[in-house]
Amino acid sequence: MPRPILATVHPLALRHNLARMRQAAPDARVWAVVKANAYGHGIERAFDGLRGADGFALLDLQEAERVRALGWRGPILLLEGVFEARDLELCSRLGLWHTVHCDEQIDWLAAHKTQVPHRVFLKLNSGMNRLGFTPQRFRAAWARLDALPQVEEISLMTHFSDADGARGIAHQVRAFEDATRDLSGERSLSNSAASLRHAQDARVRGDWIRPGIAVYGSAPDFPEHTSAHWDLQPTMTLSTRVLAVQELQAGDTVGYGSSFTADAPLRIGVVACGYADGYPRHCTTGTPVLVDGVRTRLVGRVSMDMLSVDLTPVPQAGFGSEVTLWGRAASGAVLPIDEVAASAGTLSYELMCAVAPRVPFSVEA
Ligand SMILES: *Cc1c(COP(=O)(O)O)cnc(C)c1O
Repeated sequence: MPRPILATVHPLALRHNLARMRQAAPDARVWAVVKANAYGHGIERAFDGLRGADGFALLDLQEAERVRALGWRGPILLLEGVFEARDLELCSRLGLWHTVHCDEQIDWLAAHKTQVPHRVFLKLNSGMNRLGFTPQRFRAAWARLDALPQVEEISLMTHFSDADGARGIAHQVRAFEDATRDLSGERSLSNSAASLRHAQDARVRGDWIRPGIAVYGSAPDFPEHTSAHWDLQPTMTLSTRVLAVQELQAGDTVGYGSSFTADAPLRIGVVACGYADGYPRHCTTGTPVLVDGVRTRLVGRVSMDMLSVDLTPVPQAGFGSEVTLWGRAASGAVLPIDEVAASAGTLSYELMCAVAPRVPFSVEA
């Protein structure tokens, strides 16, 4: 029998969250961002829940091929554009739309032989300083692209650095407005956080929003807001079972380094999940866990294949009991992945992407 650990993808939750993002920006079209193998869910497993999107945005060309292989004929956008000149052949063949963020990509387009002109998203660096042309160089790039017979249509995009936080997006929206003022073309600015927090502003909604993490049920601005606040549902559950029970006396310790000491008699469950499954080793005593759908806490250090949980709030639990590391328990109780990520000093993005290859996945029927 395989180890009892399992990751489950919830298609109805994906559909629900996608609908929530549409509601946040009702007049915009929605790119479902499925980079990093749909944030670790698996593109093929997430596809059914996300097929109501207007397009799929990602950055790996092989992932784009996989979306086409699923029968998707609608838009696909390469968020980083092409990485070398011959990638443009795949764009022509599969009808991929691609971001243009640097002069080299324009050089390659100018030399590309294609029957079908391309749809490109010209990227402005409005302050994130990751990808894109600076405001000073944006117009020259637009004019170069506009003169190319290889280019059918130019859309305009930028990306926010602080849509989830205190600095906000006003300075970047202003930079985008200034740089694009009299240029025609569709606009795309907003990730999940901007779509949820700032999309009352039509300039921020633009023509296409690009939500990722919210589609996967996580609050982009946790802990200021929770997934419940935004009415988002978990799309991935990591679950397993209790493998063994230990009865501790006061003074007994748990696990490597004896980082936890019982101050009174304590029943603990030893659980089949460890850092080799992608559960963060940085989670310490107190990290929330559900046992039989009841909230309890991690105790001691996470080891490679196991971790331990306090069974005090669930006296009926024992060998074989259901353990939910994040997501939804059989009872319907929810443990937001954002809380587990916060306990590890990281973000839900990283946890979703880091579920280890040895963990089997299933898709909820
Ligand atoms: C990843 C990404 C997104 C989605 O971001 P979320 O925070 O997951 O909503 C949108 N746009 C670009 C360019 C990205 O790289």
